[in-house]
Amino acid sequence: MLFNVSGLLRSPVGTVRHYTLEPERPVHAGSVELIRTPDGVLVRCEADVLMDGDCARCLAPFGYREHISFEEIFVQQVDVLTGHRLPPPEDDGAFLISLNHEIDITEAVRQYSETAAAMQPLCRPDCPGICPECGQDLSMATCTCDRAPVDYRWAALAGLRQAANG
Ligand SMILES: [Zn+2]
Ligand SMILES: [Zn+2]
Repeated sequence: MLFNVSGLLRSPVGTVRHYTLEPERPVHAGSVELIRTPDGVLVRCEADVLMDGDCARCLAPFGYREHISFEEIFVQQVDVLTGHRLPPPEDDGAFLISLNHEIDITEAVRQYSETAAAMQPLCRPDCPGICPECGQDLSMATCTCDRAPVDYRWAALAGLRQAANG
């Protein structure tokens, strides 16, 4: 995910370039806008990324898709016209344009993908998970354990029914 911006750095502030992202892990599809700013290039990225996770219920590893969207300034280290080094950016965590005028968005994509990763991904929305009593994967087979209902609204309803019947 490398873009050569030596041409863009020679263009006036505000010049925009559009690119389509090629599929390259973790990116499935996406687009990038590069905009010339006074001290570098603003990168605007929209992408679908493929994530790997373990199901929060049954613990099975599986892949899923997330959307990421970010804007980051990549700061110029070299004046493209004179070849002179520029003073380093004040923020030492800033993304940098390489000395040969390339922007690599791989690290930014990785960071934003990590942030977008689901806290509790599910392999499917109705994954029944694992029986807390015997450890049986309930999507493969049922078990005979007497499991307490997890949803208290249903528990209350069951209690009401019992009261009505009794
Ligand atoms: Zn699952
Ligand atoms: Zn069980």
